Amino acid sequence: MKRKRRFLVALFSLLTLTGALILAVSFRYFYKRELLPWLPPNQSLWSWRLDGLERAPQALFDFLQYKDSDCSRKKLIALTFDDGPYPLYTPLLLDILKHYKVKATFFVVGIHVREFPALSRQIVADGHEIANHTNRHRRERDLSQAELRGEILGCEQAILDVTGQRPRCFRPAGGFLTDEGIQTVQNLGYTSCNATVNPGDWWQRDPDMLIRSSYRGRSREGVTLMHSGALGIVRALPGYINALKAKGFEFVTLSELAQEVGRPLPELPKRTHIPGPSVEDQNPGLGSPIPEADDEYAP
Ligand SMILES: [Zn+2]
Repeated sequence: MKRKRRFLVALFSLLTLTGALILAVSFRYFYKRELLPWLPPNQSLWSWRLDGLERAPQALFDFLQYKDSDCSRKKLIALTFDDGPYPLYTPLLLDILKHYKVKATFFVVGIHVREFPALSRQIVADGHEIANHTNRHRRERDLSQAELRGEILGCEQAILDVTGQRPRCFRPAGGFLTDEGIQTVQNLGYTSCNATVNPGDWWQRDPDMLIRSSYRGRSREGVTLMHSGALGIVRALPGYINALKAKGFEFVTLSELAQEVGRPLPELPKRTHIPGPSVEDQNPGLGSPIPEADDEYAP
């Protein structure tokens, strides 16, 4: 009897230990893949927490703030879709936006623009705004300032070549820029445009949860971050649009929003020669990963 009890205690302890180990490993995986990309460079979740979780989201999205603007007259929302265009989801998003007569802003990746030119032109033809999201979705932390500049110019050239448009907004891959990076972006004539609402569509697949998290605390203007490569947002988008329309929101592009709040986005300076990345980078061919495995649902 005593032996049996000892055996059970040992078994229980072993199972608890294994469970704890599995939990620790999965948290580490989740932390590295889902949380780390959101943290400012050289910060851990712990330092972020110490800094005040309440303030953290603002730190993430403070590049372009509309906080002080007078929006007593209108409730405006700018939907933004990052990382595309993708052949599977972008046409679905465009169909939904057309159906609901909503104009949005697409932060595109240069190599995807060159790989899917018809889709890129469709975005513009449908009246949406097209914006710069680097040439190969490279994060600033992996680049020198010269390389970051090359990434921005590479995407700009791709957009110009394929659609004839000159983007005014830049959003960094991964959502972060250092002060040095912000300076690089400004020197090129761009406005850094992050988001004020981040529903987390790259991991949240439940449409109802997405809709709820998208307008938590939303009573006036804002910029919503979404992704062109996430199925969740395709399913949630009609409900999201209806919910915000019912609350009296109007949908605008980023340029329109900036105009409405009295901070119009300056036009991009004309550049005669853009020293972009190499030809192979610009024409990756069908073999290129779309999206990059690491970045599939990352911002
Ligand atoms: Zn992105």
